Amino acid sequence: MTVSAILQTKGTSIITISPEIGLGEAVETLAKHRIGAIVVTDAGDQVVGILSERDVVRLLAEKGPDVLAEPVSSVMTRTVVTCTASETIPGVMERMTRGRFRHVPVVEGGRLLGIISIGDVVKFRVEEMERESAALRDYIMTA
Ligand code: AMP
Repeated sequence: MTVSAILQTKGTSIITISPEIGLGEAVETLAKHRIGAIVVTDAGDQVVGILSERDVVRLLAEKGPDVLAEPVSSVMTRTVVTCTASETIPGVMERMTRGRFRHVPVVEGGRLLGIISIGDVVKFRVEEMERESAALRDYIMTA
């Protein structure tokens, strides 16, 4: 199973923000869409960073509420690990575990196709295991 299977069930709407907006506005966007991370794209729709709720919590603890006035560009993670739609889901899970992050943008030919969260991956794996055990049960019953 590949990442494209998750994208098909999630749909293709992608929330992004520009690096120039303030962190406060980015926090409002995270809250409004009930998401844990947001991809930062430039005017040419290229991925230039990622901002997660963990970044916000850490920055507030380190710098206090004044940090909310800073531009996203000064606080985002700039080296973004991405995957392609044709990669396997276990491969993306391994990347998340190794990198200690819970979000991976899907980029194909420089174009942002979506974002996969650890919640999406776990949901997909649980459903896959349920399908496998149902198939095994059917096989045993009819053998
Ligand atoms: P998360 O677990 O996704 O909330 O993110 C934990 C930390 O990793 C934060 O500093 C994020 O900015 C960063 N991060 C999240 N996703 C990625 C990614 N795909 N590539 C690089 N860093 C990331």
